[in-house]
Amino acid sequence: MQITQNTVASIEYTLKDNEGQVLDTSEGREPLTYLHGSGNLVPGLESALEGNGEGDSVSVTVEPAEGFGERDENLIQQVPKTAFEGVDSIEAGMRFQASDENGQGRIVTVTEVADDQVTVDANHPLAGVPLNFDVNVVEVRAASEEEIEHGHAHTGDEEDH
Ligand code: ZN
Repeated sequence: MQITQNTVASIEYTLKDNEGQVLDTSEGREPLTYLHGSGNLVPGLESALEGNGEGDSVSVTVEPAEGFGERDENLIQQVPKTAFEGVDSIEAGMRFQASDENGQGRIVTVTEVADDQVTVDANHPLAGVPLNFDVNVVEVRAASEEEIEHGHAHTGDEEDH
């Protein structure tokens, strides 16, 4: 069976940046099982996997536009330290849930802490980064109607939802 719309594929993958540093990998855990064609993977990886079958290996470089997007310098902002009320000590690298002007939830990363100002970056940590994927297709099966309805794969150990 080949990976097409409404199939569920299990993949082993390693993701590296252009310097060869491993950013993410399924090594040491269960393969990633996902519903194909529902935007559960970054678009560039989904289209590279389309048409592959069990046992196939795929190596692809996904540019930021087809990955986690380009970096947007407007998403870097200075906020007063008082906005972090209740947080004992703010350090670079910490992540917080924030909402933008449209009420959309966003993860922001603290990049710099000054005396009374904190610089936060709301870009995805992998925005602007070319993504080098090495993927092995472990299994491909048809999706159940419930999976298609939910827009994601069921692996059998999810919470009741
Ligand atoms: Zn579900």
